[in-house]
Amino acid sequence: MQSSLFVLSGPSGVGKTTIRQELAKMIPELFVSVSATTRQKRPDEVNGRDYLFLGKEKFDAMLSENGFFEWANVHGNCYGTPTKPIEEKLANGKDVLLVIDVQGACQVRERMPLSSILIFLLPPSLDELKSRLSGRKSDDDEQVKIRLENAKSELKSLLNYDYSVVNHTIAQATHDVASIIKWCSYRRKYDRQGKN
Ligand code: 5GP
Repeated sequence: MQSSLFVLSGPSGVGKTTIRQELAKMIPELFVSVSATTRQKRPDEVNGRDYLFLGKEKFDAMLSENGFFEWANVHGNCYGTPTKPIEEKLANGKDVLLVIDVQGACQVRERMPLSSILIFLLPPSLDELKSRLSGRKSDDDEQVKIRLENAKSELKSLLNYDYSVVNHTIAQATHDVASIIKWCSYRRKYDRQGKN
């Protein structure tokens, strides 16, 4: 297979969602997966664009039909990558990006050790992460606390990743992640051609 499966992870509030949107604009040939979740939709989110918002029953039904490439319970809600769209894109030679948590990244690495590339997005500091989480107003104090606690354990997974990028500004971090994606994609295709 010539295509690559990129995974972007990082603690909640680090800026993954914005960078995901910027990457989709910057690399139009990249297929950006839309995850399913049982979490409540936030006011600024659109069903089908940001997530597929499913009830728990529907999520469980998809799970029992092996409909998820990977899935995890994160901060008390279920999240999963629908298998069909990404398998189709990869089979057609397209690169795919998943923006998922560290548990999901681990499952992807096990399923596709040779064609997965894991990128970890870091905040400049934990204090900065705390102020970004508190500032975004979408989560109450209890959620901010849970997400900060989870961030500390997620950071321990950093060494399982191939690359890390510090998000000082959205523009710089998007540029850094895009450079990694473009280089790995080019190298994979070039290496492959070299062997044929
Ligand atoms: P949020 O609720 O803030 O949108 O996302 C919470 C966490 O779930 C984030 O770390 C996000 O990357 C992760 N996440 C989103 N979609 C998926 C998915 O399909 N699978 C997994 N494992 N994690 C996901």
